[in-house]
Amino acid sequence: MSLQLDSRQRAMLQEMGVRVFGSALPLGLIDDAPPGPPRGGEAAAAAARDAGLAGLRPAPAPYISTAQNHSARALASDVATMDWPALQSAVASCEACGLCQNRKNTVFGMGDTQARWLVVGEAPGESEDLQGLPFVGAAGQLLDNMLKAIGLDRHAKGEKGVFIANVLKCRPPANRNPLPEEIAQCAPYLQRQLELMQPKIILALGRFAAQALLQASVPDVAQIPLGKLRGQTYRFQDVPVIVSYHPAYLLRTPQDKAKAWADLCLALEVSRQR
Ligand code: URA
Repeated sequence: MSLQLDSRQRAMLQEMGVRVFGSALPLGLIDDAPPGPPRGGEAAAAAARDAGLAGLRPAPAPYISTAQNHSARALASDVATMDWPALQSAVASCEACGLCQNRKNTVFGMGDTQARWLVVGEAPGESEDLQGLPFVGAAGQLLDNMLKAIGLDRHAKGEKGVFIANVLKCRPPANRNPLPEEIAQCAPYLQRQLELMQPKIILALGRFAAQALLQASVPDVAQIPLGKLRGQTYRFQDVPVIVSYHPAYLLRTPQDKAKAWADLCLALEVSRQR
């Protein structure tokens, strides 16, 4: 598959650090080898985590369709019938897990609620918590550039529209990994967003988004490095899901931007078939 790019999209790609030769990027030429070994220290751990390389933790409980604890189930049944405004206020006042204690704002998501594209990230960080909006920090800038390179814009409606949401609606303290029980409590919100939106394509960014969306269809998904989940089309309740690297990981590992670009091209191709 190849993608014709106009000069604006080429500029976006250059900004992302993706080199494009000729008039189109032949996806078959992109090297799909797993990323190199993690560097030492905390940054390395974070890089490995985002890349899905630290898949040795126990698998989180299945969630979204099979929330395991009682309060998650109770929440799911309430949320399952909500319309968009009710869902938004339920998230805004949610106290289902301990993350509500330290948050400044919940982060429900933003974009066109009728969009064909749903992008799912992990959880709000500090800037997102302060502004109540997803992906507004440095990773968000990269995400915006990546989306613009394929003609999408979080501020646009219709064909160019995209909705951006997260697995968790509240910031984990010090940006730690989401806990399985937090994910279970929050899952009904993403589930309902999906049902109400009915997107044509879901782009799952990073391993927590991938696990949340593939848990029901990919055995032992938590044990599979994110790099190995890429390049295929999965389904979440009949909606195609493409997995890619988290933008925060790409900021630390720019050599993998070309792979993220390949993922976007695949998602674009799949979305055009629907
Ligand atoms: N990382 C995410 O996964 N989501 C955000 O909203 C911001 C950073």
